[in-house]
Amino acid sequence: MKLFDLRSMFRIRLKRSVYRTRSRRLYEAHKENVRSVIHDRVNHFIGHYGPRHGIAVGRIAVRNQKSRWGSCSKKGNLNFNYKLTFLPPELRDYVIVHEICHIKEFNHGRGFWDLVKETVPDYKEVRKKLKEVR
Ligand SMILES: [Zn+2]
Repeated sequence: MKLFDLRSMFRIRLKRSVYRTRSRRLYEAHKENVRSVIHDRVNHFIGHYGPRHGIAVGRIAVRNQKSRWGSCSKKGNLNFNYKLTFLPPELRDYVIVHEICHIKEFNHGRGFWDLVKETVPDYKEVRKKLKEVR
């Protein structure tokens, strides 16, 4: 087998394992870095949504979750999957914006998507790409 074949096999295996794994070791290796990136990006987007819409974020938790990318509680606490770090930046940012917008619009109605669109104008395409990641 050629080296190239081995590398492409490895890439496929890696991709599967990253999105499906609940490996404690992988989580431990990345969680601190992921936490700081997520905090930075939340602050970045709150710079937009805070002054314009009065949105304030509660606590931010980063967890080792199987399938959800993120969630938002009624108190404005945000929950993110540490695997966001393995996504392309525009997909990661979309997930973060999505949860921030739920603080104001606790639904997926028109008002919610209008909020998302303010910072992710191409959110429809980004959502499609995100659904392909599995
Ligand atoms: Zn949602």
